[in-house]
Amino acid sequence: MSKTALITGSTSGIGLGIARAFAAQGYNIAFNGLEANGAEIAKQVADEFEVKYSFSPANLMQPDAIRTMVADAIKTFGTIEVLVNNAGIQFVAPIDEFPEEKWDAIISVNLSAAFHVTKAVWPGMKANKFGRIINIASAHGLRASEFKSAYVAAKHGLVGFTKTIGLEGAPFGITCNAICPGYVDTPLVEQQIPAQAKAHNMTEKEVVEKIFLERHAVKEFIPVELLAQTAVFLASDLAGTITGIAMPVDAGWTAQ
Ligand code: NAD
Repeated sequence: MSKTALITGSTSGIGLGIARAFAAQGYNIAFNGLEANGAEIAKQVADEFEVKYSFSPANLMQPDAIRTMVADAIKTFGTIEVLVNNAGIQFVAPIDEFPEEKWDAIISVNLSAAFHVTKAVWPGMKANKFGRIINIASAHGLRASEFKSAYVAAKHGLVGFTKTIGLEGAPFGITCNAICPGYVDTPLVEQQIPAQAKAHNMTEKEVVEKIFLERHAVKEFIPVELLAQTAVFLASDLAGTITGIAMPVDAGWTAQ
């Protein structure tokens, strides 16, 4: 029987790339995301790779909606072998202008949701004596940048959560690891270019060159496919003794 991967925020960007990579391996995919055409995107991927799928538009800021999403996925597929906590949002502003509601939203989606989804899949993984939890953190889980107080705090928190769950899962065959990407060219990055330009008083072109790629030793964006294959590897049977790590895939950013 095919394994099932539940991937949050999988109707855009990195999450969609991860969903495609797991579908290519024959996994059933439980999609989630807020994109209006999410159900359509999920169906297209499932059709292309001939796998079973479900789609949940659950808003991860709502713990009840998370619990329903996980219960529905278990009802559909029986078990969930892989959880990828990927959904995330960003907001860029100096601390004195940082809106309180943006702080709350970023902590909720980028950190608390990972706790709620993990807690909901945990009993099933424990009973199966197998689980692979992969948290998409960020190089900002290991390093800071100015004007990203909430995001950096949430991603550092997610790295700490990953270590704890790695330890708690060890007796039950459950691993938990974080992937810490550098900059990836997705809608999340595109959307912050104007705000970064304003905050730093730069043109948008300068933001890409001086803010984003300046941090990378290799002056390229990280390909989505590389992150997706990293997740597939961490989910493999072979990777059972890798747990609690925060793995940079960051073009040399955190080597500095
Ligand atoms: P994206 O904006 O392309 O995708 C984000 C996904 O999360 C979307 O499907 C969106 O609908 C979903 N989402 C957002 N808020 C949600 C909510 N409340 N409930 C349910 N779903 C919600 O962004 P991306 O660049 O693919 O980012 C994916 C992850 O990778 C995020 O956690 C992000 O922090 C992390 N990351 C991105 C980069 C980058 O450079 N793009 C770098 C490091 C880490």
